[in-house]
Amino acid sequence: MKAYKDLAPSLRTIMTPGPVEVDPRVLRAMSYPILGQFDPEFTDMMNETMEMLRELFQTGNRWCYPIDGTSRSGIEAVLVSVIEPGDKVLVPIYGRFGNLLVEIAERCGAEVVIIEREWGGVFSQGEIAEAIRRERPQIVAMVHGETSTGCIQPLEGIGAICRELDALLVIDAVATIGGVPVETDAWQLDAVIGGTQKCLSVPAGMSPITYNERVEAKILQRKSIERGLQDKNTPASAKRKVRSNYFDLGQLQDYWSPARLNHHTEATSMLYALREGVRLVLEEGLQQRFARHKLHEAALVSGLCAMGLTLYGDATCKLPVVTCIRIPDHVMGESVRSMLLQYFGIEIASSFGPLKGQIWRIGTMGFSCNQKNVLHVLGALEAVLIWHGVDLPAGKAVQAALASYAEKKEEFTC
Ligand SMILES: *Cc1c(COP(=O)(O)O)cnc(C)c1O
Repeated sequence: MKAYKDLAPSLRTIMTPGPVEVDPRVLRAMSYPILGQFDPEFTDMMNETMEMLRELFQTGNRWCYPIDGTSRSGIEAVLVSVIEPGDKVLVPIYGRFGNLLVEIAERCGAEVVIIEREWGGVFSQGEIAEAIRRERPQIVAMVHGETSTGCIQPLEGIGAICRELDALLVIDAVATIGGVPVETDAWQLDAVIGGTQKCLSVPAGMSPITYNERVEAKILQRKSIERGLQDKNTPASAKRKVRSNYFDLGQLQDYWSPARLNHHTEATSMLYALREGVRLVLEEGLQQRFARHKLHEAALVSGLCAMGLTLYGDATCKLPVVTCIRIPDHVMGESVRSMLLQYFGIEIASSFGPLKGQIWRIGTMGFSCNQKNVLHVLGALEAVLIWHGVDLPAGKAVQAALASYAEKKEEFTC
C-alpha cells in the first residue's frame, strides 16, 4: 500500500485577492471541539456571530448571518430567494464578477438586462440611475469591489433611486467587506453579500450576508406560497416558489431565528472561525482597519511605481485592496509568478478573460496586508524582474515603500 505522508503545507506569503493568510487565532479556533448544533453554547455563538456581523455590515438589519459555502453561495442564496422567474434584473458589469451575477440571475429565471463598462473603469451614478429609470427592474445586482480589474464602484445614491422606483438593490461586497467601508444602512443597500477568504482573513467556506425588511417582505411572500396560504394549484403561484432548498433564505432565517427550525447542520468549525475572524476585525476597529489597508496600499503602489511599473485601470476608482499592474513588454507573466512562488514563497495572482497575460494582481487583504509582506513582495518582484532581463532602477522600490511608511501615507501618488 502506498504510504501517504502527514499533511505539511508550506508557509506562504499570499498576496492575491483571496484566499489570503489567516490569523493563527482563527486557525486555532478551528481546532476546538465540536458542539452539537442545538447545544445552547453553540446557539449562543450563532447569536453572537450575528450581532458582530451587524457591526461589520454597519447595519441594524435583523437578518445578518452566514451561508455555508464559498462566497458565491451567499450570492446564489440571495438571488435565488429574491428573484422570481420572469423578474427583470439589471446588472451593471465592469468586470468578471458582474458576469457571475448575470449567470446566476439567469439560472434563477430572471430576465437579465445589462449595461457594460470597459474593464478598468466603473460607472457614474448618473449612468446607473438612467439605466434603472429606463429598465424599471425589480432587482439591481452589482459588484462593489471587482477583484478582476481592481476597481471599486461607488454606491452612494444608487440605493435611493432603487427605493424611489421600487427595485431591490443587491450588492456583492465579497472583496470589500472588512477592508473598505461598506455602509449597508447609510447607502440603503437592500441585501449585501460578504466573503470570508478576502479581507476578513477567514478560510473559504462561508459567506456572511445581510438583508433588510424590503427583502424579507419578498421572502415571506414567497414562503406563504409554500405553506399553501396562496393557491398553489395555479401555475402562476407555483412558479414563484424558491427553486432551491439549501439556499432558501425563508428556511435559513427560521434556522437562524430563536425558533431554530432545523434546516442544514451548521458548519461548526467554520462558525468558530468566522466568529473569531469578525471578533478580530471589531477588536482592531473598522475605521482603523480601513486605514491600515490604505496605508499598505500606498506603500505598495509607491514601490511599484518607483520600480517603473505601470498600474492598470483608472486610478480614481482603484480598489484599495487589489493592485493591478501591467506586465512589462517581453516578460512572461507566468514565469515571473512561478519564480516568486518557487524561490520566495510568494504568491501573486494572474488575471482572467481579456486581461489574461496582460496584468498581475497583488492583493493586500486582511492578515496578509502588512508591512513585512509588502516589503517582501517588492524586493522579490524586483529581483525576479531583473532576472527576467527587465531594466529597472534597482533598489528604488523598497526605498519608496520605506519612505511611504515613514510618512504614514494613506494616499498614493504614482
Ligand atoms: C472572490 C469573489 C467572489 C467569489 O468568491 P468564492 O468564494 O470564490 O465563491 C465573488 N465576487 C467577488 C467580487 C469576489 O472577489
